[in-house]
Amino acid sequence: MKEQNNTVMSKVERYYEDYGIRARELKKEGKTVIAYLCSLVPMEIITAAGLVPFRIRGNVNEPITKGDTNLETIACPFIRSCFDLSVKGWYDFCDGIVIPHGCDSMTRTYSTWRYTLGLPYSHFINVPHTVSGPSMEFFTQELNTFTKSLGRFAHKEIADSDLTEAIHLYNENRDKAKALYDLRKSDPPLISGTEMSKILTVGMSLPVTESNELFAEVLEELTQRKEPTVHEAPRIMVDGACIDNTNFFKLIEDSGANVVVDSLCIGTRDYLPHTDVGGNPLDALARRYLDKINCPRTYREKAEGAYEKDLAARFGDIGSLGKEFKVDGVILYVYKYCDPFGFEVPARKAYLDSLNIPVLYLEDEYSAGTIGRLRTRIQAFLEVIE
Ligand code: SF4
Repeated sequence: MKEQNNTVMSKVERYYEDYGIRARELKKEGKTVIAYLCSLVPMEIITAAGLVPFRIRGNVNEPITKGDTNLETIACPFIRSCFDLSVKGWYDFCDGIVIPHGCDSMTRTYSTWRYTLGLPYSHFINVPHTVSGPSMEFFTQELNTFTKSLGRFAHKEIADSDLTEAIHLYNENRDKAKALYDLRKSDPPLISGTEMSKILTVGMSLPVTESNELFAEVLEELTQRKEPTVHEAPRIMVDGACIDNTNFFKLIEDSGANVVVDSLCIGTRDYLPHTDVGGNPLDALARRYLDKINCPRTYREKAEGAYEKDLAARFGDIGSLGKEFKVDGVILYVYKYCDPFGFEVPARKAYLDSLNIPVLYLEDEYSAGTIGRLRTRIQAFLEVIE
């Protein structure tokens, strides 16, 4: 049900602070909730099965205690936090878990998740590391296996029409997310990076129909804002992997900048690419999740010619976003032990250098305490680009 103006952002706040509150309610109403990690799990298939997809989130304010008895501490701190919360029962309303072959931290810990949580359903999606023809064929088959496996669990034969319907719903969700991004093109932007991060994170915890409704309400409320809530300031893009908390955005914005766009998993990487419609739905989903999501865990053939040409082919989407949102600088934020992004730091920096966009590289733990310590470096960077 639609809430009154000025209360939509408070609803977002509530869903953000008590992450999973709606999925918990749905579970009580008899729905089946399937948790997943990473941007590479096709939520469309879970929705087409009549189940509720729910993205597991970590919490930078919660110390990792129980999870470390099962997961080694040299794994990605974000994954360790997600696992820790799951072991502590924060997500005990979930009936199953789906983990894709994203990075090693995800892949190598799948059996630990499966064994420790002991949920009625668990599935690993094998995602190839290249976008070649055979890889695409393999991945389509892999999605077919996932569809069948989930169908058996849900006691439902998932038809192409169910998948197509879900694809339309998620494409609508991406259109709305893009409309929200567009509100940040003005100077100052109509919506802060902190608010945007909250909205997008919350969207991952809701059934897509409810997420569409919420995004529509947020859009309506924000476009009626008479005055932006932020002031003109250097325009920053945040580049990196999975940021599912607002602490880092808030730190940048409290330091005197506006985060106007991102190249992140719970951000443009996840929310912008559409799934093609009109052909075989599983082929289209394979294309979207393997090829259209530009994540460093997927290798792309080297572009012919000089190194610069290859950089442009690999990171052109970041450059285009930078131009579209008129960014003054990029903060590249990578978690300790994150191999896919860690290995790419020199190349990402070289690409941004070639565009004359100043870049600050920060490596961090997944913890509110360590995020706070980055303030001085961010302030120094902003002084340089102002
Ligand atoms: S932050 Fe890096 S290591 Fe951690 S889950 Fe994401 S890609 Fe994997």
